[in-house]
Amino acid sequence: MAKKIEMEKFKNLFYEKQLSNEEIADFFNATVSGVVSFRVRNNLPPRGWANGKHPQKGKHHSLEVRKKISKNRKGKCAGILNSNWKGGETKTTYGYILKKVHNHPFINKNGYIGRNRYVMEQHLGRYLAEDEVVHHINGIRDDDRIENLCLLTNSSHGKLHTPKGSKVGIHSKHK
Ligand SMILES: [Zn+2]
Repeated sequence: MAKKIEMEKFKNLFYEKQLSNEEIADFFNATVSGVVSFRVRNNLPPRGWANGKHPQKGKHHSLEVRKKISKNRKGKCAGILNSNWKGGETKTTYGYILKKVHNHPFINKNGYIGRNRYVMEQHLGRYLAEDEVVHHINGIRDDDRIENLCLLTNSSHGKLHTPKGSKVGIHSKHK
């Protein structure tokens, strides 16, 4: 018949005398699992938590493990959780929308083209030439509805934005 494990005696044996669970089990004529569950049930911390510190704290993950963790976190941040992610679209500092497109001859190094150009290309069914510019009729740079877009050559577009006698255009930069 197992003796009742006494709290104070247990603390003395476990923390002061640093006895093993086996030795304490012997002392109380209890089982090892009985001793462990007694400790857990009474919210007594395992040894090694000296000064309230978790023994794992301060131990460093190996480089490989850390890489793995950071990779996992990156995966979670990509797309859905990234506030800049708008389904493959991003806004330039000039207020134009860029669209991520695959297998396109004129995408930039990040894989984007101006959404206005993309919409016009879809409308025309061909790629735009380098000297073709897609102008926003109402002047709103992120309004890429086809009815707001007008295909111009570079030179005629320049004239449109630079009326006679003025050197400043409606918008400073087109992509
Ligand atoms: Zn324009």
